[in-house]
Amino acid sequence: MSGSPSRIAVIGAGITGLSAAHEAAVAGGDRVEVTLFDGSGRAGGLIKTSTFAGLRVDEGADAFLRRVPEALTLARSVGLDERLTSPTAGSAAVWVDGLRRLPEGLVLGVPTSTISLARSRLVSPVGAARALADLVLPRRALDHDSIGAWVRGRLGEEVHDRLTDALVGSIYAADTDRFSLAAVPQLDALARGGRSAILTALRQRRPSDSGPVFAAPSDGMGSLADAVLTAAVAAGAMTRLEAPVEAVEAGGGGVLIDGERFEAAILATPARVSARLLASSAPAAAAGLGSIETAGVVMVTLAIPGDSLPEACSGLSGYLVPKSRQQRVTAVSFASNKWSHLRPADGSQILRVSLGRDGMDVSDLDDGEVVDSVVSEVSDHLGAQLAPNEVRVTRWPSSFPQYRPHHGALVATIERSLPATIVAAGASLHGIGVPACVGSGRRAAQSVLSRLGIDGHRPEPVPD
Ligand SMILES: Cc1cc2nc3c(=O)[nH]c(=O)nc-3n(C[C@H](O)[C@H](O)[C@H](O)COP(=O)(O)OP(=O)(O)OC[C@H]3O[C@@H](n4cnc5c(N)ncnc54)[C@H](O)[C@@H]3O)c2cc1C
Repeated sequence: MSGSPSRIAVIGAGITGLSAAHEAAVAGGDRVEVTLFDGSGRAGGLIKTSTFAGLRVDEGADAFLRRVPEALTLARSVGLDERLTSPTAGSAAVWVDGLRRLPEGLVLGVPTSTISLARSRLVSPVGAARALADLVLPRRALDHDSIGAWVRGRLGEEVHDRLTDALVGSIYAADTDRFSLAAVPQLDALARGGRSAILTALRQRRPSDSGPVFAAPSDGMGSLADAVLTAAVAAGAMTRLEAPVEAVEAGGGGVLIDGERFEAAILATPARVSARLLASSAPAAAAGLGSIETAGVVMVTLAIPGDSLPEACSGLSGYLVPKSRQQRVTAVSFASNKWSHLRPADGSQILRVSLGRDGMDVSDLDDGEVVDSVVSEVSDHLGAQLAPNEVRVTRWPSSFPQYRPHHGALVATIERSLPATIVAAGASLHGIGVPACVGSGRRAAQSVLSRLGIDGHRPEPVPD
């Protein structure tokens, strides 16, 4: 090696920052010195696993998509392959005055068969007939860039409320009328791939769609964060936890992080934090980042006696509550049905219940009110009085960035306004799911390495 290594700061040790630090340290080798900062005392950010009912149970994300390969590839590359598992219960339901199983063959809430849609009794005969109109309706312009506008226009109100909005809304804690269509690649591909949503969905379904959709380490998603951190440190990255960054200043061909000089920085912090950090050195980028709105959720984990769930729940991974039926609960996961490693020895069942979304703020409820809402609403949904023997409440304020229509243009403006030595990454920009965050962190690291003139190329591992 000639000369001293280039110093790279990664701010934020959520899965984005961890992936960025890992990639920069592995690909940069001894030509870089990577320092990973986090304001909290642990790595993982919105990924957190803790002990509940004697088992390791996630408080936030509990799985990642296999279809978008970045997280699967990363998990394998940090030695988790043997510990990866997939859900044992595949089918989910929607609660519309009773549990109704999702029809076969959905592509992110878009049906591929109006026959299975009608059979599911999830929509009324009129709703199913309206969905059928998609086959003959002319193509419409997509300038609105709203999921809700596109789905309503093609498939009608009921399919929007009970399928697409219920599914996509629960994944992103979103109101799909105010969420960018272009920012959800699977739906965008349907909207742009042909005139009819149903026929395009049918055409675009791939043989691999029949395999497991999700994967997770059997000891929880926290072990993915831990393993990436361990691998990054083994590759030479240094960590500074409980080290909240207060100021980022670009200039002199480098970046000052709280006065300490680095050659480049990756901001893997939530948009509102990145906006604050960049306020003086990149005000235009800061303004763009500061305009990204968020929604908060509360996750309640319950352990209930094993015989509490009615027969209708057997084989179900959980259910969604569409907006037209929502009070506070938006989704319920029957975690012990879904995952074989989440079955307590005493036979009790673990449930994970989500409350809140964009347009439904639950942050003012105290823990007692949150738990009362969960017990009363879920008992009503299932027609069975739940009496939990253990409860955990996890608050995730401002955790879900809301990609408003034309989010892509906003991100392009932000990226153009950043100094050459600073790259922004993370859930606020290019995708909210764990695989998208891993990809964002990894690309940020590659971009920094190439800007520093370091050839960090290494072959893309093949996931399967
Ligand atoms: C309840 C819930 C369930 C979810 N379920 C799933 C799921 O099942 N599957 C899936 O794919 N995705 C899921 N997601 C989404 C996914 O978990 C997140 O989008 C992703 O983990 C975000 O990662 P990130 O690194 O971009 O941000 P974060 O995890 O928010 O990390 C940002 C980090 O920055 C740190 N930080 C903040 N300010 C500073 C500062 N000033 N200085 C230094 N550090 C700072 C924070 O401490 C944090 O560690 C879920 C999210 C939530 C909230």
